[in-house]
Amino acid sequence: MKQSLLVTKTRKVISSQETSINAQLLERAGYIAKLMAGVYTYLPLGLRVLSRIESIVREAMNSLEAQEILMPALQPKDPWEVTGRWDKVDILYKIKVGDRDLCLGPTHEEIVTPLIGGYIHSYKDLPRAVYQIQTKFRNEARPKSGLLRGREFRMKDLYSFHTSEADLHEYYEKVREVYMTIFKRCGLGDITYYTYASGGMFTKYSHEFQTVAPLGEDTIFVCESCLIAVNQEIRADQPVCPNCSSSELVERTSIEVGNIFALLSRFTEPFNVEYSNQENTQQSVLMGCYGLGTSRLMGAIVEVLHDEKGIVWPVEIAPFSIHLISLSRKPETQIRAQELYDLLVNGGFEVLFDERIDCSAGEKFADADLMGIPFRLVFSEKTAAVDSVEFKGRTQSESSLIILSSLVEFLRNQIVAQK
Ligand code: ATP
Ligand code: MG
Repeated sequence: MKQSLLVTKTRKVISSQETSINAQLLERAGYIAKLMAGVYTYLPLGLRVLSRIESIVREAMNSLEAQEILMPALQPKDPWEVTGRWDKVDILYKIKVGDRDLCLGPTHEEIVTPLIGGYIHSYKDLPRAVYQIQTKFRNEARPKSGLLRGREFRMKDLYSFHTSEADLHEYYEKVREVYMTIFKRCGLGDITYYTYASGGMFTKYSHEFQTVAPLGEDTIFVCESCLIAVNQEIRADQPVCPNCSSSELVERTSIEVGNIFALLSRFTEPFNVEYSNQENTQQSVLMGCYGLGTSRLMGAIVEVLHDEKGIVWPVEIAPFSIHLISLSRKPETQIRAQELYDLLVNGGFEVLFDERIDCSAGEKFADADLMGIPFRLVFSEKTAAVDSVEFKGRTQSESSLIILSSLVEFLRNQIVAQK
């Protein structure tokens, strides 16, 4: 894509009173725009990033044999009365239209349980799992921290249905592993911990995935040998590792990027979702639910992966992998820069091409650093004269000269090395 055609422009300062790093950088670089507290537009660059995160999540869910669906955000009151949550869930956005009560889905247990339950008759129909990636609505008291706590935000929610606790827990453990692959691909693998948590409004059996970051709202105690953590909310006076019983845990501030629950029959009982077992007796289906905030994850990545100049996207998440900057002044070099862009696009690379002629080199470099695309190429009269281009990784301080004839292979290797 040509940068001169991009609908957004970078900004030195943003007008809103955003204090979090993720909101500052994402708004300044033109990834998101704030509409009101906790509500954001995803601009072209931002939507590319969000879509990449959601593709990684989708791939992970499909590997669990879960099937993708899309449930309505607009929901009737009735199922929320069945579970007793209409008056209990304080963040529910309620809408009254005439004499009809509706709400905007903050989560989907009330919809998915009777929906999938309607297709389950016998043990032969189990296990099953469905997921969706969707916009959720929660009337959060204090939407702050940019994408980390929104009133309208993106979430992947997975629901699994089982005959036995053993089967549910086996699936739960698979989800745990697959979640870690997601966080690895998003560049947060080393600092995201499987965390023992209290389970909030559900059962006592739940876990979180917590990413260590200064802006986080949570406090966890990390066992650095087992690489798991305990959330402060359930710690005893002396927190110990649930795996090795060590009491030498390290206190960290963290962001909850995912939360999984063994719901058991918490929702299937009120909706009467039963199956007949091999002896032909009716039993409650057991359920698990597994949340992951894709927009919160995008914010968390920026909170962790940035420097004083801007964002540092991991290669799998970046809106483009290559930022080609042309500093050409002469028309013939501009034509060669365009040819280089075509060569890269035809080679299968996703390239943002800064061919703007009304910008200084300094402005272009500052924009590139702020946007955070992993690899920068600079083509100028000087490099054109030696049939080369200057290459620099986003976090490198020195650039190197690459001969054009070997550029495609060189870039392929760079991208593979970063994945
Ligand atoms: P929190 O404890 O942060 O309020 P939660 O425990 O209520 O979140 P869940 O209902 O388990 O969250 O939702 C699953 C996931 O959705 C969370 O782990 C988080 O990644 C994301 N999420 C929840 N609330 C928000 C929000 N207001 N904005 C952005 N993402 C959110
Ligand atoms: Mg939580």
